[in-house]
Amino acid sequence: MKYLSAAAAATLAVAVAAPLHAAPTLPGDLTGPQPRLAATQLPDEANVAQCAFDGDESTAYQSAGPARANDALTLTLTEPAATSQVRVVVGDETGGRLADGLVLELSTDGETYGVSLPIEGAGVTYGLNAPLPLLAVRVRATVDSDQPLIVRELWLTSQPGVPRIAYPFEVTVDAQAEDLAEWGAMARDEMMLWYPYFAELLAGEAIQPPRHVKMVLREMDGVAYAGGGEIHGAAKWFREHPDDVGAMIHEMIHVIQSYPRYDPGWLVEGLDDWARWWIYEPENRRPQARPGGNYTDSYQRTGAFLAWLEAYRAPGLMAKLNNAMRLNTYAPELWVRWAGADLDTLWAQYQASFEK
Ligand SMILES: [Zn+2]
Repeated sequence: MKYLSAAAAATLAVAVAAPLHAAPTLPGDLTGPQPRLAATQLPDEANVAQCAFDGDESTAYQSAGPARANDALTLTLTEPAATSQVRVVVGDETGGRLADGLVLELSTDGETYGVSLPIEGAGVTYGLNAPLPLLAVRVRATVDSDQPLIVRELWLTSQPGVPRIAYPFEVTVDAQAEDLAEWGAMARDEMMLWYPYFAELLAGEAIQPPRHVKMVLREMDGVAYAGGGEIHGAAKWFREHPDDVGAMIHEMIHVIQSYPRYDPGWLVEGLDDWARWWIYEPENRRPQARPGGNYTDSYQRTGAFLAWLEAYRAPGLMAKLNNAMRLNTYAPELWVRWAGADLDTLWAQYQASFEK
């Protein structure tokens, strides 16, 4: 059979396979005010801070322990939005389990809060006659309580609008190697910046990626691994390679994957390395695709093959494979259905593309 050049294959791919949905916007290309959620107390498991701004009142931020005076859940915008109304819903689904002395507070500089409104019952709506250039809004406990701080949702009416968080997520850092606390905080911020992008890129119906992961930085061999709701990173490695944040992005992709089975392992790691090296990392760090080997080689070699498939044969294929793996419905026939040929044929075509 005659193999297609990459360019010809690209033309064909456009004709035969359009992606399921448009690729999400890269973090650096987002415009307008973006929401950042922060809480003074750790979340109670998956009830992370971002659940308070996901447009869904059935999910909530909930503090791990009882609310203490000055505990707060704060929504900060990356730039001001002219806001005419703020509404907050607190407590559990029935409006119960309310912490005492809650107030809703607004800020135009992100530091001082000029408006403070008592929250009575399960919520309050605050309307402004003249739009306020809002930069931050928080729900704060003014006294100690025996109930946790629960914020179901903050609603803003603003110009421009502030996008909701589609995939609430939080990385909490446990820097057992204390000298890496600052590095861990930086890596956490980078992971949280990229999580919504990859969650959307790999999204499928009826799949909710995990909302919480704990990053443990400790003395151990190797680089990093993910499992059981935790990511463990080797202190020695990240001390010596502080620029290897991509290794943590790789582990974060494993969190999104959360497959019931690690099978086939080469595809789990290949898909992950595709996301890490061909999307997250800048082009000058990307490994060069080389001929030879096999698709089962895993990691970067498989990642390069998947990047070629995604670019030239079947855009959107990685999202489909991710969902099949997550739903435990992966089967070798899927390559024929979604990429037009079986794996060995696709690999032979990929190898032939190096000859052009
Ligand atoms: Zn891995």
